[in-house]
Amino acid sequence: MSQEKPVRVRFAPSPTGKLHVGGARTAIYNWAFARANGGTFILRIDDTDPTRSTEENTQVILRAMRWLGLDWDEGPDVGGPCAPYKQTDRMDIYLDAAKRLAESGDAYPCFCTTDQLAAAKKAAQDRNDPFQGYQRTCRDIDPAEAQRRIDAGEPHVWRIKVPLDRGDVVIHDAVHGDVTFDAKELDDFVIIRTDGTPTYNFATVVDDAAMGITHVIRGDDHLSNTPRQVMVYEALGAPVPTFAHISMILGADGKKLSKRHGATSVEEYRDAGYLPDAFVNYLALLGWSLDGDTTIVPRDVLAKSFSLDHVSKNPATFDPKKLDWINAEYMSAMDDETFAHTVMVPELVEAGLMEEGECKGRKPWLLKLAAIIKPRAKLLGQCADLCRFLFEGDEVTMDEKSVAKGLAKEGCGSYVNAAREALASLDTDHWTADDIDACLEGLPERLDTSKRKFFQTVRVAECGNMVSPPLGASMELLGRDTSLARLDRARTLCG
Ligand code: GLU
Repeated sequence: MSQEKPVRVRFAPSPTGKLHVGGARTAIYNWAFARANGGTFILRIDDTDPTRSTEENTQVILRAMRWLGLDWDEGPDVGGPCAPYKQTDRMDIYLDAAKRLAESGDAYPCFCTTDQLAAAKKAAQDRNDPFQGYQRTCRDIDPAEAQRRIDAGEPHVWRIKVPLDRGDVVIHDAVHGDVTFDAKELDDFVIIRTDGTPTYNFATVVDDAAMGITHVIRGDDHLSNTPRQVMVYEALGAPVPTFAHISMILGADGKKLSKRHGATSVEEYRDAGYLPDAFVNYLALLGWSLDGDTTIVPRDVLAKSFSLDHVSKNPATFDPKKLDWINAEYMSAMDDETFAHTVMVPELVEAGLMEEGECKGRKPWLLKLAAIIKPRAKLLGQCADLCRFLFEGDEVTMDEKSVAKGLAKEGCGSYVNAAREALASLDTDHWTADDIDACLEGLPERLDTSKRKFFQTVRVAECGNMVSPPLGASMELLGRDTSLARLDRARTLCG
């Protein structure tokens, strides 16, 4: 039985666009299923639709897969025993398979024109024929006669010959359970078009059979194709794999996720700065759960624990807030160095606050900055705003409301003076967060004011805002000269 064979699964995107959230989730499930079962994960490019497939899209999909960290064992770039892994490079294989089916009597050429097909369909409708599919017009043409017509250059397609006594097709779907398709719906469908190209239902099965795919995990928009595909497996004499059709992803309004709901391509999430680990974790939960409760499922746990019996057949709803929450959890779980490197510095560079090349010389400074920013940057794109005041030299941007509350009020001038005087006594060697805090600590009492008022004033003077990362640490990062210069400037704004 297929389940006992080593697991081989594939993700088979059509390069007709970017990799979307739904496709990414399918890829993740296939990858995780392979990893959890010690199996093989294959990437195959289904590019048989020449009008819509492009090489550029293929590259975009490969990049997105790499960013997601879904390494494939066989496929483009890495090769493998079933190469090539691009359908347009496998055209001979489909023609050979069709030829074999023709020889065994499981496929036949059909010469019907579009008009003839339309007329036959209309006639079936008019007589209320329960069978509305292709009327098998060419099924019984004498093979020698058919060959003569082919040799004479008459246009034809190849159709599969579905046994008339086949009966209903029951799919034992690992997610949906048994799904029965009425035998009446099974017509002799086209496997090779007039131009010699294979149809999706044929090429996919020829490849899945040749590649020894044991489990087909894909979106449930393909469930309706499955009975036809089963016909191809049976005609080829190949074992039918286990199917697992996963539910759709919906937007908050209950409609299929689309551009209307916001970003849908993996690229957009990458560019917005989401962490691939967090993104994979979030997508994995759209239809699968570890135990019903756990939200943080790191990649290695997913790769160990993923199973199809925990996949829900109900549609999942894409919730950007939950994605943000999971992303924030991953950010705060990072060590400072990783955070600086993967999140903070790229944002600072992007915001024009520093240049990429500056990082090396400023590593200790950046690590200290990461330590105070990391717990505060809960959402993406917040680093630059949180850090901006540290990059403005002596002339920090002043928030008006903060100035009104923290500097313009009576007494503020004396707080600034006292802070300036005390801090001036600290030399550069002692310009550390701890020493700065210790130096300022006793001042509110000496000035007969509250800690809140005093520190609010100093904070606004140094950071330009009442809200900032810890004051001592911020001033350490600003350096002695800038910190003192900012107090001098603040004095001019005091009431
Ligand atoms: N190329 C198909 C798609 O992108 C794959 C379907 C399948 O997995 O069989 O939808």
